[in-house]
Amino acid sequence: MGDQDSSNLPVGIDYQSRSDAARAAVEEKNSRANSPVASTAGIYIHVPFCRAKCLYCDFYSLAERDDVVDRFVNCITEEIHGAAGQVRDRRFDTLYIGGGTPSLLTPGHLESIMNALQKVLGLNRIVEFTLEANPGEAPEEKLRAFRDLGVNRLSLGFQSFDAGLLKFLGRLHDPRDCSRTFEAARRAGFDNISVDILFNVPGQTLQCWQSDLAALVELGPEHISAYSLTVERGTPLDDMVAAGQVCMPAEEVDTALYAWTRQYLPGWGYHAYEISNYARNGRACRHNLHYWRGEPYLGFGPAAHGFDGTRRWWNVRDLDKYLKLIEGGDSPVAGGEELNIIQLRNEKLALGLRLSRGISVTVDLGYESVADFISKYEGQLESWADHLVLVGEQLSLTEQGTLLADTIAADLFLEGRKPALHRKRRPPAALL
Ligand code: SF4
Repeated sequence: MGDQDSSNLPVGIDYQSRSDAARAAVEEKNSRANSPVASTAGIYIHVPFCRAKCLYCDFYSLAERDDVVDRFVNCITEEIHGAAGQVRDRRFDTLYIGGGTPSLLTPGHLESIMNALQKVLGLNRIVEFTLEANPGEAPEEKLRAFRDLGVNRLSLGFQSFDAGLLKFLGRLHDPRDCSRTFEAARRAGFDNISVDILFNVPGQTLQCWQSDLAALVELGPEHISAYSLTVERGTPLDDMVAAGQVCMPAEEVDTALYAWTRQYLPGWGYHAYEISNYARNGRACRHNLHYWRGEPYLGFGPAAHGFDGTRRWWNVRDLDKYLKLIEGGDSPVAGGEELNIIQLRNEKLALGLRLSRGISVTVDLGYESVADFISKYEGQLESWADHLVLVGEQLSLTEQGTLLADTIAADLFLEGRKPALHRKRRPPAALL
């Protein structure tokens, strides 16, 4: 991989005297200025293996399937080779290996996948190469090997520093594993680390969350994704809530913990560039920005999605079927849809409003002018006066508005099918 050193990452800038919104706008501009936005795209690889299934997780992943890891790697390289026709003139600048727990792969597995990607898609323009890993499941030696292969961003799923909450969530690690794996990653050469952490967990108090965030900023990752735990249909947590065995925190608690996060992290140099995502200068996740900006991406692996700007498609959400289809010479694609202009606009609105910089009502939403947009949305702009701001042609949420992002976006939708909304959760292509 040719272009992965830190000189290709967004140039750091001084945010100290700027407001959060201005910081976000500059961050975004800075990120765009460092990549050829017009045709850049992301590559997502879904690795569906985990050591155990967490209580709340609805991502497509399976425990105890070590028996098929080698077959999976062979199949995913086959799938990549089969994508040669979809590539056209795309310039791929981000690669994200998610899951599941991709750090369970060996460096040899990763190398095979990368060789296929290099051959078919070309990796020379990749500037951000992320791999997800779990604390306690990624020894330093392995992390070093991943780093040597070109991974330049690590995303660690801490979720909490509280032993009791980790146990409740079904995580296999304990709080000490978080700092141990983080330090091991630093020693292995990672200077761009993101940490996922959860609030709104049953039993979690504001003090507990405050102490989690304090411990996190002390470690000093470059990026933090702080998600509100939601009860997803079909998960064990869903069953427990339905059976009255677990009671989710009240809405006010969720809101209080969210508000604390939004207030606390910027004070430590993490600006809130998206509803759930915070980054130090120049460290916003470029891959996820592809999703939020409605830019194209290719997805490989069971349940992965792809998007070419107007058409979306998705693979079978079943590992065994995925393996059989590919080994039988068939496509793993299970379905697809062509989005019409209304659906595309609604999606841009729902995703773009998650970003602190918001969206351009002319460039992104396609209105002829700001006046044209205002004339069509006068009523909504008035009723959401405390929640929405229009500065020039940029429409964005106020801090208060971020709490109602989905409701506000839905109120602005044009007629037609509404996109699926996921307030305060992971980006769309990670919702597999
Ligand atoms: S939350 Fe992460 S580690 Fe837990 S089962 Fe889901 S993908 Fe695996």
